[in-house]
Amino acid sequence: MNIKCDQCKEIFTATPDQIRFISDSQKKGMKFIMLECPSCYGSFSLNPQTMDVPYAVKETDGDCLRCPCNSCYGFISPISDEKAFWGCGECGMVWFIQSDLFDAITDSIQRHPYRSNVYTKKGDHYISVPLKDEPDNYEEIVARE
Ligand SMILES: [Zn+2]
Ligand SMILES: [Zn+2]
Repeated sequence: MNIKCDQCKEIFTATPDQIRFISDSQKKGMKFIMLECPSCYGSFSLNPQTMDVPYAVKETDGDCLRCPCNSCYGFISPISDEKAFWGCGECGMVWFIQSDLFDAITDSIQRHPYRSNVYTKKGDHYISVPLKDEPDNYEEIVARE
């Protein structure tokens, strides 16, 4: 399976692990995954259903938000496909309405109050805090949820 890296435009052969990850996500109906490129070591997003690279919309509110899903510390990217959505490249969760994403963040903070440390609330919007302001062990704590 040949895949084109969206960062360096190099075409590479998917590893057995990546092929497994892609076919699993196809079965789960996921529309968005992150892959690591063996040439530039960058990560880029891929729609496993079409094998196309979804166009990531430029962030307006600083860095990407942390994913609100249980035990997931991935980052949310705004994606513009046929229909714009927000997706987590780690767990594959997608939100088609921004307020649904913000509701999911509110829920996750209610369940796990320490999660509020990685967001700043601006009106009814959440924006991410800079990585350096996140608690050092954020990923460790979330992984234990
Ligand atoms: Zn690359
Ligand atoms: Zn996630």
